[in-house]
Amino acid sequence: MLHDENLTTERPTFVTHLECAMEGDRYPADTIHNLSRANKPLLVRYDLAGVKKALSKDALASRPQDLWRYRELLPVRRVSDIVSLGESVTPLIAMPKLAAKLGGGELIVKDEGRLPTGSFKARGLVMAVSMAKALGIKHMAMPTNGNAGAALAAYATRAGIKSTIFCPQDTPEVNVSEIELQGATVYRVNGLIDDCGKIVGEGKAKAGWFDTSTLKEPYRIEGKKTMGLELAEQLGWDVPDVIFYPTGGGTGLIGMWKAFAELEAIGFIGKKRPRMVAVQAAGCAPMVRAFDAGVEHAPRFENAHTIASGIRVPQAIGDFLILRAVRESKGFAIAVTDENISAALNEVARTEGFLMCPEGAATYAAYKTSLADGRVRRDERVVLFNCATGLKYPLPPVTRTLDRHKPIDFAAL
Ligand SMILES: *Cc1c(COP(=O)(O)O)cnc(C)c1O
Repeated sequence: MLHDENLTTERPTFVTHLECAMEGDRYPADTIHNLSRANKPLLVRYDLAGVKKALSKDALASRPQDLWRYRELLPVRRVSDIVSLGESVTPLIAMPKLAAKLGGGELIVKDEGRLPTGSFKARGLVMAVSMAKALGIKHMAMPTNGNAGAALAAYATRAGIKSTIFCPQDTPEVNVSEIELQGATVYRVNGLIDDCGKIVGEGKAKAGWFDTSTLKEPYRIEGKKTMGLELAEQLGWDVPDVIFYPTGGGTGLIGMWKAFAELEAIGFIGKKRPRMVAVQAAGCAPMVRAFDAGVEHAPRFENAHTIASGIRVPQAIGDFLILRAVRESKGFAIAVTDENISAALNEVARTEGFLMCPEGAATYAAYKTSLADGRVRRDERVVLFNCATGLKYPLPPVTRTLDRHKPIDFAAL
């Protein structure tokens, strides 16, 4: 079995406590948590000095290529609680033709579409569900734009945990179907993701559901953090100059920023950080507005709309963490139009043979703009995140036909 060794070898674990991301007050590990007393996200803290002693780059090098290779920096204590569907390390794919065409530096895509359920939501939910199993949670609920619900459904079913999922009415059909098929109960709701979130909040109070919303439980960040751990390891324990990340709730951006700090603390990387660029759609850009306004919190973005459904998040509870990471890294937040997203998707597919999801295509559109206006230099190494397989989204129709009963002009084909 591919992932056997990571799943069966017992190793010490290093979680010491949880901490409010806003107030810094401490919470005990190994009990059920949602938000802090200040209603802010909780972050998991580790004995990093202990990890530093226990883990070497050499030891890591010989482990199987999946996210459990970073067990010392993850919250799951018992191997028997791990609920896996094979979370393989995702490849870095060079885009040399696009780089040459744009006259830019090295351009790399981290392709998260290879993960179970076809999106990087698997990273967060495999951790949340494994911890839910460890803590004895029986019923998980979640608002979703699609991919998170699919990942929750899959892992919860595998763990024998009940899942109830709410998505906006216009969520892509494939997502609603995969959620139901993977054993969850899914409802379409006439509203946006934050409206669905309110229903989950009520269900938590009235029916005792566990609220698995983005950043309302502490472990999805830890799963998403592995994107940063992997990326640094894949680059030979280095970081790129710039990361373009399609930002909805921001779990991945916040998680990677945390990963880099932990890697420095255990001596695996130095002080260098990538500039973190939060990419949003022009039709739903609360972080871009807040970044430009120089404020710490982002008010709800009204009438949110975009074809990139994964980043249609009008309001994020981790807004201050996203903005902090972007600012501390000397990065920026940038919005791209749906037309630019579609054009980018086409250009990457036709030039490099690589089908991105719309959210991934948004990062390429943002990179092009940033290269043109000088926010990214032409000698910089850039990583774009393609967060889901392009095959999960509605694709443009093809109308070309061929009548086999008529003479075929082969030279014209
Ligand atoms: C959820 C999602 C995002 C946004 O990720 P966050 O870390 O929550 O900001 C981007 N792209 C896709 C395809 C998604 O499913």
